Amino acid sequence: MEEIKKKIRTIPDWPKKGIQFRDITTLIKDPHGFRETCNRLYEHYKDKDIDIIAGIESRGFIFGSVLAYKMGKGLVLLRKPGKLPADTVRQEYELEYGTDAVEMHLDAVKPGDRVLIVDDLLATGGTMEAAAKLIQKQGGKVVGCAFVIELPELRGRGRLGNFEIFRLVDFEGE
Ligand code: AMP
Repeated sequence: MEEIKKKIRTIPDWPKKGIQFRDITTLIKDPHGFRETCNRLYEHYKDKDIDIIAGIESRGFIFGSVLAYKMGKGLVLLRKPGKLPADTVRQEYELEYGTDAVEMHLDAVKPGDRVLIVDDLLATGGTMEAAAKLIQKQGGKVVGCAFVIELPELRGRGRLGNFEIFRLVDFEGE
């Protein structure tokens, strides 16, 4: 995993002071790094009982779509408000200042579907928690939450209760 971690660039104080932004563009433009990242996620989930993959906008789409393709599953898009054309369901969540929301098409997940949710990074867990609630609202069962990166200091896992969580690399105050 050191190989993957080395290819993720850190931009200090972006988008605002005090944030260490973990930039995956340097990882995915590297053919070996991108392939290795997707293969590792695939290796973890390939034998699990999963019906569909849900990717969180926008970097979750990148890894979620490859994983769906490799696993022979479909892909559901969890998007920022106002982007999806058909009827949607929405889940709001708290930000440091104000609220945000994720939306999904009403017919994207059927009751009983076993869903793996994918995003690039787990920080406070607010985004993934909202995504999981959205899936559950439609009767889906969240069978995993997959990330490339976790920032353990922000204790996102604590918000994700009993969900299965998998990530490839950690960044701790580096
Ligand atoms: P959170 O809801 O706090 O777990 O934040 C996760 C979402 O915000 C993910 O979709 C990430 O892409 C983005 N994010 C949060 N913190 C960072 C960071 N330090 N570097 C890069 N992306 C981040």
